[in-house]
Amino acid sequence: MRILVTGGAGFIGSHLCDKLLAEGHNVIAMDNLITGSTRNIAHLIGNEHFLFIKHDVTNYLYVEGKLDAILHFASPASPIDYLNYPIQTLKVGSLGTHNVLGLAMAQNARLLLASTSEVYGDPLVHPQTEDYWGNVNPVGPRGCYDEAKRFAEAIVMAYHHYHGVQTRIVRIFNTFGPRMRLDDGRVVPNFVGQALRGEPLTVYGDGSQTRSFCYVADQVDGLYRLLMSDESTPVNIGNPHEMTILEFANLINELTGNPGGVIFEDKRIEGDPQTRRPDIGKARRILGWEPRVDIREGLTRTIEYFKKSSG
Ligand code: UDP
Repeated sequence: MRILVTGGAGFIGSHLCDKLLAEGHNVIAMDNLITGSTRNIAHLIGNEHFLFIKHDVTNYLYVEGKLDAILHFASPASPIDYLNYPIQTLKVGSLGTHNVLGLAMAQNARLLLASTSEVYGDPLVHPQTEDYWGNVNPVGPRGCYDEAKRFAEAIVMAYHHYHGVQTRIVRIFNTFGPRMRLDDGRVVPNFVGQALRGEPLTVYGDGSQTRSFCYVADQVDGLYRLLMSDESTPVNIGNPHEMTILEFANLINELTGNPGGVIFEDKRIEGDPQTRRPDIGKARRILGWEPRVDIREGLTRTIEYFKKSSG
């Protein structure tokens, strides 16, 4: 297949490009590089099955030649990034999604939307199943991301029902691994960076909030299976292994041998979900997918990457 990946120079987008190429497809990566980086795809430049186009998907979108699928992964995705780029975040989720749907319709191509566990907001149902509608504050600081993705899901379903576009929606839970930006503000790069510098890890709040971390290779395997499936309703992809942020900090200190310990800081962003864990029953049933890389193994690989890339 010939496949367009928007956000193809981002963290998950670039791993997706690798996966699609390994599966024998031709890949066009598109990115405006506000949060993505050409470093993530540098190893693909020169590959005859790969093309990079620098373009902002919120503007008119045209791609020469036939497309069989579009994977819409363009968006700031870390809380710090979407607080810095709230308008771009809303535009790429709304106008950008509208543009890729128009292109998918014109090309008779399949469209996969990267949605997020943030559509569940600060969830009142635990673990989160796909039929939960969420607890989101539209005017809170996370609203720009959450509502953009909720709108994106709605317009994808509208194109599916009204125009018959073949669509897929993945709700991605916290994912980590090589190529995360050391300064993206998320807990994994923050903690690993601090640990490698021998500093205390900055736990926001009392550290009792939970997250469930999925290694990127598992994430991308799930995404590929969803793309190849017939499922048009949303599917959670994430790792159900849930930890408190304090447990997570202690694990990173253990794996890096950091003597710095932790410090508690009052920096939780309003609406920071207290709990998050995917129910992956649907992915198991429909895609035959479940994560295989455990948290220690995934973190060890990620720590190695950050060691190398921070010189
Ligand atoms: N967090 C933290 N210390 C940090 C960065 C984040 O304790 O240096 C916490 C944050 O408050 C949140 C969790 O870690 O509860 C995950 O935050 P992240 O920014 O990685 O993404 P989120 O899951 O909130 O989108």
